[in-house]
Amino acid sequence: MRYHSTRGTAPAVPIGEAIAAGLAPDGGLYVPASLPRLDPAAFDPHGTLADTAATLLTPFFTGDALADQLPAICVEALTFDTPLRALPAHPHTTMLELFHGPTSAFKDVGARFLAACLRRLPRRDARPLTILVATSGDTGAAVAAAFHRQPHVRVVILYPDGLVSPRQAHQLGCFGDNVTALRVAGRFDDCQRMVKAALNDAELQADVPLSSANSISLGRLLPQMSYYAHAALGWGRDHGTPLNFIVPTGNLGNALACLWVREMGLPVGEVRLACNANATLPEFFAGADYRPREAVATLANAMDVGAPSNFKRLRWTFPNESALRRLLQAHSVDDATIRRTIATHAREHGEVFCPHAATAMHLLDRLRAEGDEAPWAVVATAHPAKFDSVVEPLLGHPLDVPPALAAMLTRPARAEPLPANDKALETWLSSHRRDASRSN
Ligand SMILES: *Cc1c(COP(=O)(O)O)cnc(C)c1O
Repeated sequence: MRYHSTRGTAPAVPIGEAIAAGLAPDGGLYVPASLPRLDPAAFDPHGTLADTAATLLTPFFTGDALADQLPAICVEALTFDTPLRALPAHPHTTMLELFHGPTSAFKDVGARFLAACLRRLPRRDARPLTILVATSGDTGAAVAAAFHRQPHVRVVILYPDGLVSPRQAHQLGCFGDNVTALRVAGRFDDCQRMVKAALNDAELQADVPLSSANSISLGRLLPQMSYYAHAALGWGRDHGTPLNFIVPTGNLGNALACLWVREMGLPVGEVRLACNANATLPEFFAGADYRPREAVATLANAMDVGAPSNFKRLRWTFPNESALRRLLQAHSVDDATIRRTIATHAREHGEVFCPHAATAMHLLDRLRAEGDEAPWAVVATAHPAKFDSVVEPLLGHPLDVPPALAAMLTRPARAEPLPANDKALETWLSSHRRDASRSN
């Protein structure tokens, strides 16, 4: 399998090169030459998530040096389960729990898979690599956890000071060693712009070799298909029907992975996108022109995206715009509704959702109120305890904290302040060059 750029002017490359590069050299996003078709019968019915991932991803790695190591990469990355749990209070409803990884959000799947691939790719430079990550909260911690104490790599995280949850901030700052957290006096968009500027700065790159681990990397997108395939195949075997999914959506990485699994012939039914007050996608799917914009801050902060980075891949997958609009629905859920959904479900059913999962749960409530009785899986992208400052006041009691998160919260945390301008990051990177070598 070879990978093309959505802009169409960069040469096609095998998966290892596409993963190492992140963005294609013409500025486009890498997409596979085609989406392979897979037979559900090819999957081991008793296989683990890692087994499903290896079977699913084999055609994507064909012809690359990483192909032989794919099963080992899957085992190394997918060390936790992504269970599909029945919600007893809601008939025909399950929750796909993606928060059992080390940082309690689904980003662990992509970050760990990317790290397992990069570890096996040939090093281009004798000097250590600095991985820059701009994060609105969850990505930074997942990437830091995946690369923590790995030789020849340093992770530098930029996050908007005061705009991530207190526990997210603690998580970002608690790693130490080869991980540095920079709290930027600005917004997520500033962090992202500063990272892009550094990556495009040839002079700086000559001085400090840089890479990124953002959501456009195929090394993060492809493994996210695994949990949809695993859940849908299991459901299909038990019930003989496809499973529908409601996916909390920001940059469209998680939802696109689900749609690709369906395109590949596995038993995924309908897919609905749950968005927060950032309504770029809901407006597009309601018939308006695609109008990317600046993001607004919401309670579901990991979905505060005004210009979804995977939209171009969605257009590549479904080139006919009217067909695409018929295929998908997206709905915007405001903060008041997120709060009400969390409070109501806790009070009436003893269920607790993070603000992101609550957007999806609200869409399910609407479908059921309309009389829909189809099997739906609500995708839970983070553990609610990560958003205790939002969730606990609505419940009126503290939440149990998953052990990995609890361990991080007992470690001291530290973040350095940084002004929100491109020059400040350049200066920081140049003057901390030697820290990167020491992490060696
Ligand atoms: C990143 C994130 C999302 C959004 O995922 P996308 O792939 O950007 O659409 C939703 N929920 C949580 C908890 C996240 O961390």
